[in-house]
Amino acid sequence: MPNLTLRTFPDPILRVRAKPVESVSDVERELLAEMARIMYLKEGVGLAATQVGIDRQLIVIDIGTGLIKLINPSILKSEGTEWCDEGCLSVPGTCIKIKRAQKIIIEYLTEKGDVVSRGADGLLARAIQHEIDHLRGILIVDHIANPIKKLLLKKKIRRSRRTP
Ligand code: ZN
Repeated sequence: MPNLTLRTFPDPILRVRAKPVESVSDVERELLAEMARIMYLKEGVGLAATQVGIDRQLIVIDIGTGLIKLINPSILKSEGTEWCDEGCLSVPGTCIKIKRAQKIIIEYLTEKGDVVSRGADGLLARAIQHEIDHLRGILIVDHIANPIKKLLLKKKIRRSRRTP
């Protein structure tokens, strides 16, 4: 088991598109367990594998209703839109209003390797969409439509990282 640490912007791993898991093994189960440990330690509601330097399609989420582990998740259907402030463990100290689908249906693999689909709405749907973004190399800062605002924010985050 590699020693996983939380990566923060602008670490290049956060821009990598994670690869799908071909068959679920103990390696993935151990990674998911370690990711859950880090998510709880950092008091996040979700964590994607790229955030700990692993380019595989693994996600853990707990919005306070129990731990959910998703392997190779994809959104089959989405409905409605909702704006809400979002933060990210990998972009500390930043909060951005982001438009997401209100309801989604996803398909994923369980830890046992079964293909499952389920629905989610509200905060859970938001958390899942946020983490799936991570697996595609997308961060909350990318959701800012105004290019000047986006540039200024990225500069500000980089600056705040240099001066502890
Ligand atoms: Zn995030």
